[in-house]
Amino acid sequence: MAKTHLYQPDLVIVISGPSGSGKSTVIDALCKADETLRESVSVTTRKPRRNEVDGIDYHFRSKPEFETHIAQDDFLEWAEYGDNFYGTLKSEIVAARETEKDAILEIEVKGALQIRAQDLSPARSLFIFIIPPSFATLEKRLRRRKTESETELKKRLAIAKSEVLEIKHFNYWVSNPENAPQHAVQQIQAIIAAERSRIDTQLIDTIHPLLGVDTSD
Ligand code: 5GP
Repeated sequence: MAKTHLYQPDLVIVISGPSGSGKSTVIDALCKADETLRESVSVTTRKPRRNEVDGIDYHFRSKPEFETHIAQDDFLEWAEYGDNFYGTLKSEIVAARETEKDAILEIEVKGALQIRAQDLSPARSLFIFIIPPSFATLEKRLRRRKTESETELKKRLAIAKSEVLEIKHFNYWVSNPENAPQHAVQQIQAIIAAERSRIDTQLIDTIHPLLGVDTSD
């Protein structure tokens, strides 16, 4: 997605929604299409799945290591999900800023709400909730994935129901229909483009000198 020359990346884009709603697929496509997005790599105590790589999919850490991060106040947010812990390192947001990219986070809802409660300035946060067409579709997707035991899968479905109740705290919802992730991708690209064009103090400070407007008094 093309950026305007005026735009200074300052977004923390939080993508949330139930497990199985297709967040990872959508985020991968977004990042592939837009090199000015930087996906945050979370820390988790969950064991790696087949094909998952430490440092790319997650930073896979032991419970004591995760607790050390908590004690050192390294996390922007963290939450317990199922039987595991997940957290976003503050350093991931700093890295996005330093590389002049907008940060994009794929996290569950409790973590999203923790970020919602914080003032991230000079960064701005944007909250997008991805919903599957139905719970039946969600269950089908989770079963097809074959990454969870039956018990874990049941837990994820129960969590999904409570997560959908929190949709009111998000700025946008995006539906992710079966076999058509490009619809959700296009919709999120449009939302991000709109946010990047939002007029705020930072943009006004940049635009006035560029247009030769004297703001000295
Ligand atoms: P999974 O085990 O399927 O990779 O992830 C389980 C849930 O944890 C998903 O909803 C995923 O989005 C969420 N998650 C991944 N990383 C983080 C994180 O850093 N913080 C929080 N709060 N949730 C995360």
